[in-house]
Amino acid sequence: MTGPPPGRADSTAAAAYGRLGAAIARADENRALVAEAYKITSPQTALALRCECMHRLCTEVVVLTLEEYEEIAADPAQAVAALSHADVDERYVVKRTSRFSVVEEGLFGSG
Ligand SMILES: [Zn+2]
Repeated sequence: MTGPPPGRADSTAAAAYGRLGAAIARADENRALVAEAYKITSPQTALALRCECMHRLCTEVVVLTLEEYEEIAADPAQAVAALSHADVDERYVVKRTSRFSVVEEGLFGSG
């Protein structure tokens, strides 16, 4: 009668959406940060942004320039992740650089 019930089914689509929600919240923070940064600096300026992986508790920081981020954010299916986090994210890794990875969800229609 004490404590929460032991782990419910955890591999459902709902759980995945929950993790994606955490990723999207960080992506929103990044977008806001980049929009602010653009007002005072140039596209080549590097900025410390949040890793947008699907880990709820992720606190990793990724460093990329405003234009690098813009390029990723231009595609709503894409997100930036720390190098080591891309491998455990549930999305596809579409790009790796020396500082960050780019993951993409879905790939609907494969083209
Ligand atoms: Zn992460």
